[in-house]
Amino acid sequence: MRIPVLTYHATNISGNSYQSNDLLAFEEDLQLIHQLGVNILSTYDLLKWIEGDLTLNDSQHYVVITFDDGSELDFYDWQHPTYGQQQSFYSTLKSYPNYAHTTSFVIASPDTRSVLVDTCTAGHSIWGDDWWQKAEKSGLLSIENHSWDHLHETLDIVAQQNNEKGDFSKITSLEDANAQINEASQYIDSQIDNKQVTLFAYPYGDYNRYLTEDYFPNQQSNIKAAFTCEAKHVTQETNNWKIPRYVCGLHWKTNAELKNLLFSQ
Ligand SMILES: [Zn+2]
Repeated sequence: MRIPVLTYHATNISGNSYQSNDLLAFEEDLQLIHQLGVNILSTYDLLKWIEGDLTLNDSQHYVVITFDDGSELDFYDWQHPTYGQQQSFYSTLKSYPNYAHTTSFVIASPDTRSVLVDTCTAGHSIWGDDWWQKAEKSGLLSIENHSWDHLHETLDIVAQQNNEKGDFSKITSLEDANAQINEASQYIDSQIDNKQVTLFAYPYGDYNRYLTEDYFPNQQSNIKAAFTCEAKHVTQETNNWKIPRYVCGLHWKTNAELKNLLFSQ
């Protein structure tokens, strides 16, 4: 059995079509996934299946859904100044009671998110974190770790020893890895009741041998799996520290292409 993991970015809005708007693409995709009778597996159950602790039905199809970066558009509807009312991922999920459990990988640092207001979303204050707890409580959307500052290109200073930005494979020391991963987990845990972060998504999908072969398996114990952006299905042979994901708009661009991903065996 092979399972695709999908990821969407809520701030990808440059119009109101499937190809120009991830919120709309997700709405159409979830409708398709539901119509086709495909089961949605949580990231946590995916991990159990990889590790052999969960048995799935071979005659069924499964998919896993994730969201990256963690702007408020994951959770709150928003009036876009140019493209009008936008329905959040959460609002779309609510239309299918007891169907989907998804995961938002969020950027933890409050300072980073306040910079992104200006550098990524044109001054729109959509990078708060008051929705994390509500999302967790909803049972539809879990919050997990997408690093401290994403090594985001638009920051003056990032938590990397040489201030290298835009490439997460530059995280090659214990100090940097703890600053990016461990501190992000601690911040997220501090904002949500009874939370313990266990999953990580590599910013830009970038990883390296230090992270996958030393840091994650040997230098820390809270994170149990890490997600890349490689366009492959997950199997029970997949390495926990390199779980591939398909990216909306990059690896599939239409409902029909998604259908191919869902049914490719
Ligand atoms: Zn990201």
